Amino acid sequence: MKTKDIIERSRKFIVPYRVTDGKKFRLKDVDPDDTGEVSAEDKPLAKEMLEAGVEVLADLQDVLYAQDQWSILLIFQAMDAAGKDGAIKHVMSGVNPQGCQVFSFKSPSSEDLKHDFMWRCLKCLPERGRIGIFNRSYYEETLVVRVHPELLAKQKIPRQLITKNVWEERFDDIRNIEQYLSRNGVVIRKFFLHLSAKEQKKRFLARLDNSAKNWKFSSADAQERGFWKEYMKAYEDMICNTATEDAPWYVVPADNKWFTRVVVAAVVIDAMASLDLKYPEVSEAKRQELEIAREHLIGKDDL
Ligand code: ATP
Ligand code: MG
Repeated sequence: MKTKDIIERSRKFIVPYRVTDGKKFRLKDVDPDDTGEVSAEDKPLAKEMLEAGVEVLADLQDVLYAQDQWSILLIFQAMDAAGKDGAIKHVMSGVNPQGCQVFSFKSPSSEDLKHDFMWRCLKCLPERGRIGIFNRSYYEETLVVRVHPELLAKQKIPRQLITKNVWEERFDDIRNIEQYLSRNGVVIRKFFLHLSAKEQKKRFLARLDNSAKNWKFSSADAQERGFWKEYMKAYEDMICNTATEDAPWYVVPADNKWFTRVVVAAVVIDAMASLDLKYPEVSEAKRQELEIAREHLIGKDDL
């Protein structure tokens, strides 16, 4: 399949999952088990799509890096075991590691807590020409911190600044920062890998049953599962309030890992393909310099 066709197909493929205006978004309208127009029997086709997509992605990244103007920020949020790590690993498998960096954000350190809530993430933003991946992000400050208000109480924010509007204010600040970044050439794409509680249970049990997967299980994960409803409410509110044209959310069905990966790859391809990416033009002076070097190598190089 030609690159042009893969880009075209990616574009169509992602439409059902994109949220750019959260006003009407309801999480219950997205089925975590959805596989779009690809049936489970078409899995090999999906695998092929992913492989072709990964190649296109690698080519696009090469130009992104050479042009050195835009940067891509991919933000991943999800409940435990939704497949963030796997999606990142598979989708980015073909790209040049020099042009790509992944940052994982866990519970904030004491240094993090000495700063504003976005500080630790903003210092990890991708340089121009690079792809930056946030495995969790400042959005946790509207998720885990919202579900567990005691975490907010532990932060060192002056008390009089924490009012009942705190979440709205955080959404407002995030929207503003993301708009600022977009205006500076950072292309933001946000993913919520939408897993069902049933599938999470299955994956947790697999982690317990398989000794090679034991390390992935933590009892804290199982505890968080107890707050499922609260998390879903927080996720929905977060998407409703921070989905914009410049920084859309993609709510990706996550019960089928193979499908999640195809959608994520398609989103990244679409994001890069919609930029005016081209290799830098060589100036006349540079062209002459190259010509002289060629003559030198052909004529005098007798090593
Ligand atoms: P995996 O479980 O697949 O290894 P993970 O992203 O879940 O990956 P963990 O080390 O299990 O990594 O968990 C990170 C934890 O840190 C999550 O429970 C998350 O909610 C928490 N966390 C992230 N950011 C914040 C924050 N700002 N405040 C409090 N907790 C946070
Ligand atoms: Mg975890």
